[in-house]
Amino acid sequence: MQTTLNADEMRGVVTDRKKNGRTVGFVPTMGALHVGHRSLIRAATSQCDSVAVSIFVNPTQFSRGEDFDRYPRPIEADLEFCRDEGVDLVFTPPVKEMYPEGTSATVRAGELGNGLCGRHRAGHFDGVATVVARLFAIVPAQKSFFGEKDYQQFKIIEHVVLELGIPMEIVPCPIVREPGGLAVSSRNAYLTPEQRQRAVSLFRAMRLAEKDFESGERCANRLIERMMDELERGGLTDIDYVSIVDAETLSPLGFVDRSARICMAVRLGACRLIDNMPLGSRD
Ligand code: AMP
Repeated sequence: MQTTLNADEMRGVVTDRKKNGRTVGFVPTMGALHVGHRSLIRAATSQCDSVAVSIFVNPTQFSRGEDFDRYPRPIEADLEFCRDEGVDLVFTPPVKEMYPEGTSATVRAGELGNGLCGRHRAGHFDGVATVVARLFAIVPAQKSFFGEKDYQQFKIIEHVVLELGIPMEIVPCPIVREPGGLAVSSRNAYLTPEQRQRAVSLFRAMRLAEKDFESGERCANRLIERMMDELERGGLTDIDYVSIVDAETLSPLGFVDRSARICMAVRLGACRLIDNMPLGSRD
């Protein structure tokens, strides 16, 4: 496994791999690697000859007051994790390698970044779009793998790549959950054992809405009410949003008559939990 902090070196190695006829799959991460990341690495391994992982806690996607400083950075364990998974290349740039002095160009996330989490995290998706565009310029892989855990992020990146003409296939990977249904996340480390138990209400609420939908309920407000009730019953009252949106445009739906996505964000202790589930199609 080759590890580098240097953008030019990383680009050179990936370019060489491709010249030698190998396909490269790229998995961008912020580290603190877990079974969710592992599923992306394994998808990349199954589809590509060589897998590159980046580990970079991107400051521009954190707003003031968010957890940038205390975000977990267990770099040695992450490198071991990558080695165990047979990763070929790991890119661990310092901030100044990603944003050299004087850098000011940014990529705007556009329409898709306005709703859902975009409404509650000012500038977050512009930060994500910018770092991903920069990473794609450094790691010119053929495919890049993203988790549906961050569904809005995945849709934004799909559009950025399309609109900027970046030659990269974006491959979505399903959400990995703990046995009770809690979506695995690096930030779950902030939860106390008691909060972790309460956190399963997100999944429970979405499953109830899914059942109601399967029984014929199509009114988004009624489905949302059902989920809010379940969240409250589970002691989750600090709710950023619970929405049902068009799965492609992310526009809120009044009536679920097309492929849709339930999306939610809830604050619990030091954690902001996000989750989502398809509705109306098993995509
Ligand atoms: P992060 O390190 O949190 O920025 O995540 C890096 C990538 O892993 C993103 O594409 C995430 O969507 C994905 N990811 C994180 N958690 C999960 C999960 N539980 N299931 C699937 N993908 C995930």
